[in-house]
Amino acid sequence: MIPQTLQALWRHPRLSTRLAVGFGALVALMALVVALAVLQFRALAQHGEQMMRNDLRRMLQVQEIDQHLQGHGSAMARLLTSPRSERERIYPVVDAEYAAVERLIGALSAHAGDPATAASLAEVALRRNRYRDVFIDIVTEIEAGDTPTASALFNGPGQGAMQSLLSGSRSLLDHEQAKLAQRQQAVQAQIGRAEWLLGGLALGALALSAWLAWRTTASVARPLALVESAAGRIAGGDYGVRIELDSPDELGRVAQAMNAMASAVAVRAAEIERVAYVDRLTGLPNRAMLRRCAREGRWRRATVMLLDVARLRTVNEVLGFETGDALLVQVAERLRAAVAGVEVPDVGPFLARLPGGVFAVVADGLDRPAAEALRRRLDTSVTAALVCDGHAVDVHLVAGLADAPAAAEGDVGPPVTIDTLLQRAELAVGEAKRQKLGCAWHVGADAAVRARQLSLLSQLHRAAATGQLEMWLQPKQCLRSGRLVGMEGLVRWRHPERGYVSPAEFIPFAERTGHIGVVTTAMLGAALKTLAAWSREHSDLSIAVNVSALDVRDAAFPARVAALARRLQAPLNKLRLEITESTVMEDPEQVLAVLHDLRGLGVQLSIDDFGTGYSSLAYLQRLPVSELKIDRSFVADADRKPQARALLSTIIELGHRLSMSVTAEGIERAEEQALLAELGCDVAQGYLIAKPMAPDAAARYLQGQPSRSRVAVPA
Ligand code: C2E
Ligand code: CA
Ligand code: CA
Repeated sequence: MIPQTLQALWRHPRLSTRLAVGFGALVALMALVVALAVLQFRALAQHGEQMMRNDLRRMLQVQEIDQHLQGHGSAMARLLTSPRSERERIYPVVDAEYAAVERLIGALSAHAGDPATAASLAEVALRRNRYRDVFIDIVTEIEAGDTPTASALFNGPGQGAMQSLLSGSRSLLDHEQAKLAQRQQAVQAQIGRAEWLLGGLALGALALSAWLAWRTTASVARPLALVESAAGRIAGGDYGVRIELDSPDELGRVAQAMNAMASAVAVRAAEIERVAYVDRLTGLPNRAMLRRCAREGRWRRATVMLLDVARLRTVNEVLGFETGDALLVQVAERLRAAVAGVEVPDVGPFLARLPGGVFAVVADGLDRPAAEALRRRLDTSVTAALVCDGHAVDVHLVAGLADAPAAAEGDVGPPVTIDTLLQRAELAVGEAKRQKLGCAWHVGADAAVRARQLSLLSQLHRAAATGQLEMWLQPKQCLRSGRLVGMEGLVRWRHPERGYVSPAEFIPFAERTGHIGVVTTAMLGAALKTLAAWSREHSDLSIAVNVSALDVRDAAFPARVAALARRLQAPLNKLRLEITESTVMEDPEQVLAVLHDLRGLGVQLSIDDFGTGYSSLAYLQRLPVSELKIDRSFVADADRKPQARALLSTIIELGHRLSMSVTAEGIERAEEQALLAELGCDVAQGYLIAKPMAPDAAARYLQGQPSRSRVAVPA
């Protein structure tokens, strides 16, 4: 009954109520046991008192009868032998003793209780009457002066009646004693029963407590365990987890809140994923997504095709970047449709957009004819003219293809990753462009070249450690004042056997294999050391160091730069870092964070090779960059080509509108320099001014410069 009521309360919607009921029931049970114990002991105590008061008193009364009877007997004996004059004094004693016997028997009879006692008492009263009659006769004979008769009566019937009365009172005493023993037994039995009752109750309470404790613990522990395991899975990234806890109590609400939280996190994670892996302009997967798919093993033997939108640069130049964006969106749509129509077993070709006007298509297990058929299909999809902002634009794709060599061919280098394939396809695009073809397959560098690169790479670390990597400096000059504004540091490897090795021979390879950090660290060290040395004489001059994509994708790079400057006590605000346009566009969000950190240190930033990549204006605006370096290809012969002149003018204006200083690289002829000065370009760099110089030559060059810092630059 009690457990059923508790069961009902168990489903109470509040955990606190259930706990209160559980523990309340326990307290009530304990109180019941204690109350029963107290009652039992009080009853026993009452019995004891009763025994003390009644039974003992009655026994004493019976014993008193005995004493008074004997007292009466001896007084009667004295009456027999005393002369009359003395008898007057003895009579009151005789009367008092007898009266005492009368009183005691009366008192005992008044509370006889059971019939056996009453019968026993009646018998005593009867014998007393007989004794009284005899002793009245004896007294009568004494008063009559017949002492011999009185003596005979006293010794004969008198003694008999007295003995009879005494034996009656003694049997009454026995009877009372037996009654007392009985009562004691009854009390013993009661104590025994009380012991059993209390023991049973305590055991029951114990069992009920155990049951309550188990139910209470279970009703809290099981849901908590569910919640805990779900929290663990959510922490592990399993946002689909749901806690199946259908109870209206506090834990149920916690479970609901956690379910809601997991859903919200899942939505947000999906959103983050979408932003990180999707190209914002076209909605296609981006390079990060492509890499991720490769990591997840989507392709066993991938063929990579890069499609370069050939006229994009012209569209951007002539019609503006917005039109260029619109064009890319349309091309993306057409490619998407064309790819969707391809029937390939397992998984269809995977279309992604890479930085610039480049799309990548990755397909699995295609042989070369099939890959070329796919390329033609994609090419055809964009042949019909596209219309952008009312302009009809002819688009033409240049394709570069690369596939992993079949196992039989045996590849010497590292395992062919998706990055390697992308790199090779990019080289193939360059080759196709050079040969004015629509498409080219990547042809591996011949074994000799590759072996030379590998051996160089293995020596690179030792070269850095032994000072073989030198920093040569090429001056940068203000086009208005003709003054020196700074130098660009360019790496030169003084190889003990091969002489000077060109950066072109090892930089791209070092970048591709992840070893470029060695060069960056060496150049940063040399530049900062030089800046520290210049801080008195040439404190206004900056040194630019080229950094690669790997450097600026590494969140720890700024801290390393800062530590190096601290160690060399060099001013960071005179250090410039050149980042190529394509690097900046490759992984914008990550790169942007690192650039801001560098800027925060006071480091100045430049965009190198501007014009060779594809930058969105909106994105350029967000960069904390103060210099735009126009690529050499725009400068060469610009004075002889009207189109190139227009283009230069546009780029310079663009740079100025973004509040950047514009530097032209690779100026070889005075006419080129004059044109750039006329177009408002700020800084010039090229063989016309000076070729990159070894450190001692650079120091001599500085000596020959009109000294400005000593006069104009305040301390
Ligand atoms: P870059 O950063 O665009 O450097 C300018 C390149 O153009 C240098 O070639 C320089 O010698 C050359 N140059 C300068 N003025 C003229 C000119 O008037 N005419 C011609 N034809 N060339 C000129 P260099 O030193 O061979 O470097 C080639 C590329 O290697 C650099 O291009 C840069 O991308 C990379 N590089 C050089 N040093 C480093 C370095 O320390 N770290 C990294 N990551 N890359 C470097
Ligand atoms: Ca540079
Ligand atoms: Ca450059």
